[in-house]
Amino acid sequence: MDIILLGPPGAGKGTQASRLVSDLGMVQLSTGDMLRAAVKAGTPTGQAAKAVMESGGLVSDEIVSGIIGERLDELGSGPGLIFDGYPRTAAQARSLDTLLAERGRKLDYVIELVVDEDALVERITGRFTCAKCGEGYHDVFKLPAVAGVCDVCGATEFKRRPDDNAETVRTRMAEYRAKTAPILPHYEAAGLVRRVDGMADIGDVTAAIEAIMSNRPTGEAASVA
Ligand code: AMP
Repeated sequence: MDIILLGPPGAGKGTQASRLVSDLGMVQLSTGDMLRAAVKAGTPTGQAAKAVMESGGLVSDEIVSGIIGERLDELGSGPGLIFDGYPRTAAQARSLDTLLAERGRKLDYVIELVVDEDALVERITGRFTCAKCGEGYHDVFKLPAVAGVCDVCGATEFKRRPDDNAETVRTRMAEYRAKTAPILPHYEAAGLVRRVDGMADIGDVTAAIEAIMSNRPTGEAASVA
């Protein structure tokens, strides 16, 4: 089963994707993670993307659809895919349709995480991760049990994304509203969109997504009318 997780920055796409990876053995395709790796490695793609990412703007459709195509070829016809942060524009949505069709795949669901935008700035600006294992934390909602020590791997180094500051977050939200939210009707027309309350508890959101994927009722906690 191949799905897209859609929602503004901070809606919880990455968090939910990694939970679906461990629960269901799916593969997460995050263009943000791929671009950050390219920036870190200093590849030509990374060099082209770095300044745009720091400003909160969108990297070109050609670059991101190119890296998704390469990744799909590496993966072959393996497990189900979770697209996280892609597509983000109408052109990317069209490219994804083609990339999947060329490989004999098709989307099963587009799951929109519905969130209260005012809460997102606090969610995003407080988040940080373990530099070693990537476990996610938050200044207000989830501090390590022992200050300065990762709960999962015991490392003592943490990092914050350079684009998780209030000013860049506002640009990222504006980009979402202007360019990404308008792709929903494309998927509505195909009957693929399901909505989940992204403000519910993390576990309830995961349960609601998994219920959608297995065709069960989504339950109360994270259902959206
Ligand atoms: P994310 O980790 O998904 O929040 O992405 C971080 C940044 O990477 C975004 O603000 C964009 O600059 C860039 N980016 C990630 N995915 C895409 C995409 N599908 N299209 C354009 N830019 C992207």
